[in-house]
Amino acid sequence: MKLEKVRNIGISAHIDSGKTTLSERILFYAGRIHKIEDVRGGGDGATMDHMELEKERGITITSAATSLEWKGYKINLIDTPGHVDFTVEVERSLRVLDGAVLVLCSVGGVQSQSITVDRQMKRYQVPRLAFINKMDRTGANPFRVVTQLREKLGAEAFLMQYPIGAEDNFEGVVDLIEMKSYRFSGTEGQNVDVGDVPDNLKEKCEAARAHMLEQLSLYSDEMMELLLSEEEVPLEMIYKVTRDAVLGGATPVYLGSAFKNKGVQPLLDAVNRYLPSPLDREIKGVDPQDESKAILLKPDPEAPFVGMAFKIVDDPFGQLTFMRIYQGTITKGDSYFNQRTSKKERFSRIVRMHSDKREEIDTASAGDIVAVMGIDSASGDTYAAERDQCTLESMFVPDPVIKIA
Ligand code: GDP
Repeated sequence: MKLEKVRNIGISAHIDSGKTTLSERILFYAGRIHKIEDVRGGGDGATMDHMELEKERGITITSAATSLEWKGYKINLIDTPGHVDFTVEVERSLRVLDGAVLVLCSVGGVQSQSITVDRQMKRYQVPRLAFINKMDRTGANPFRVVTQLREKLGAEAFLMQYPIGAEDNFEGVVDLIEMKSYRFSGTEGQNVDVGDVPDNLKEKCEAARAHMLEQLSLYSDEMMELLLSEEEVPLEMIYKVTRDAVLGGATPVYLGSAFKNKGVQPLLDAVNRYLPSPLDREIKGVDPQDESKAILLKPDPEAPFVGMAFKIVDDPFGQLTFMRIYQGTITKGDSYFNQRTSKKERFSRIVRMHSDKREEIDTASAGDIVAVMGIDSASGDTYAAERDQCTLESMFVPDPVIKIA
């Protein structure tokens, strides 16, 4: 798959905002889980924890990385621990992401943990979309949450959608770019009914759209000029500017209820459309012999391999080293150098983790996230084609940046 169509993303959330439910729905819509069973009881109050849930259904929701496909894009969903006490783990997982979805509860809004994670994401320049979940809950107020995003996180947040119905009657959203309504129905949200903006919402949606365009125009002079001269802004321009805005640090906001299976598909469309690919990020390591020398990594399959082990998982079949490949290609059976120990390790098996199966693969290239078996590594280790080629985790490694064309 072309690198432009790869998304390495994390979902970060304050505990209980619905990260697990959303991840599960994403896997369902991507065809990786075949049935959503309501085994957890009602909306609030889980009756089964994630491990039990996984055992019950034979799936992996909380794997370190899970690959799925959505409309021709490959999405690697990377688990981002949300707990403040695992800061090194969190930072390591943020390092391997290219983008993220920040999940918020429509009632609870921005909470302490969201603030911590958001600070770390800014440090690692992880572009993000926000998803206000639990729109079906009593007291749901997405407008208040957007204000909190702006005030508490200093995020340039603005709604990309307007809700249709509220609380128990939340039916779906109006897409403010297209000005079309999306209503979700069926027990698994499988029916998406696209229609016109309901008459009673026309005025509100027009106002919300104007606000969205105004926010976006801060990222495009061309769009600003069209708005000032009250001309129509072409849809293609809105899509492009939204992407630039996301790369520039803005936070477009989407709405839904993961539990009620509403709003997840448009969020996935937005991930494809607006979050960056590995090509958009500039990653630097350092020379292990002289840490003051930065080494720019190229997401090029032909360049000498460099990758980072970001999570080690023990599993009945052996140790799995989850690795983000930043440069070059790895081949099953070949050996590469652990930059910390200077030891050569044989990558005896390479696997891609899906929620329902693990796929053995022969090679993997820059931009990808896979698990390697048969190597003895510690989390944070860098692997490379040559001894003393590059280190990705040290005090001197520059933070990744987004390339603005
Ligand atoms: P996590 O801690 O962020 O992973 O949150 P979970 O996905 O475990 O969800 C926490 C609780 O919120 C569970 O009881 C879910 O069933 C419930 N929940 C998740 N999404 C929604 C939603 O959209 N609406 C409502 N009402 N409840 C939800």
